[in-house]
Amino acid sequence: MYAFKYRKADSLAAASAALAAGEDAKLLAGGQSLIAALKLRLSAPSELIDLSGIAELRGIKIEASAITIGAMTRHAEVARSKEVQAKIPALASLAGGIGDRMVRNMGTIGGALAHNDPVADYPAAVLGLDATVNTNQRNIAADEFFKGMFETALEAGEIIVSVSFPIPKRAAYIKFKNPASRYAIVGVLAAQTAGGVRVAVTGAASCVFRVAEMEKALTANWSPEAIAAISVPADDLNSDMHASAEYRAHLVTVMARRAVESAK
Ligand SMILES: Cc1cc2nc3c(=O)[nH]c(=O)nc-3n(C[C@H](O)[C@H](O)[C@H](O)COP(=O)(O)OP(=O)(O)OC[C@H]3O[C@@H](n4cnc5c(N)ncnc54)[C@H](O)[C@@H]3O)c2cc1C
Repeated sequence: MYAFKYRKADSLAAASAALAAGEDAKLLAGGQSLIAALKLRLSAPSELIDLSGIAELRGIKIEASAITIGAMTRHAEVARSKEVQAKIPALASLAGGIGDRMVRNMGTIGGALAHNDPVADYPAAVLGLDATVNTNQRNIAADEFFKGMFETALEAGEIIVSVSFPIPKRAAYIKFKNPASRYAIVGVLAAQTAGGVRVAVTGAASCVFRVAEMEKALTANWSPEAIAAISVPADDLNSDMHASAEYRAHLVTVMARRAVESAK
């Protein structure tokens, strides 16, 4: 049997206090990854702190140059937001392509980022759009947030509160999806941001990463042809029953070209 305490927090302060007090306590967001991990006995927390009753962690705030999304905002809410569709269409379409209806209606942006699954979609948006992950303790730049497979810069006791996405000049996210789960076999977000061109790749390796060579070529010439001959080395890429490392390397170039072509 599972032996853990369950607590539904009604404020961020209450969740922070419970997390600090509970030895081996874990936050519960949409449960789409955590509940599966519990069932598989991969995680055995002493206490689950449910964030779903905390109003301040939900919602989408539109500002002149950025969109800030609360950590407990569900993927479906981001996908159907008219403002996100208008200002960062790449982000709305990425959220709309996550999993199936149930996953989109339960899963949250905060949970997806804290989990940092190597095949998840949101890491590509955060890294590719140069977003900032805001926690109960600090603001973490995208380039500092993703540390490795299922690993982030989050410290013990840290809770993601929201994510701020600067509105890009143009961007697109294209993924070659696993037909069963819809996770990314390879997904690429290409963007022209205020700080320059960014190309972020998910699904291909143990953690989301940027492709500097493509960014340089696209800065000089924003066109699919500019990156047609650029490929990432297969050496460090994932190889599994779905795709070999060499095939993933090929897909990175193809998805990146399509992303540049469709960016708006
Ligand atoms: C069948 C299926 C298909 C899927 N397909 C896709 C897909 O195509 N693309 C994709 O990207 N994802 C996919 N997912 C994953 C989905 O997006 C999940 O929503 C996501 O991985 C976890 O979010 P969650 O809100 O459910 O978090 P939970 O499962 O509740 O939590 C995940 C982890 O994050 C921690 N956490 C949660 N919230 C916070 C917070 N605010 N601050 C700090 N830590 C926090 C938890 O403690 C836990 O360790 C799929 C899942 C399933 C079950």
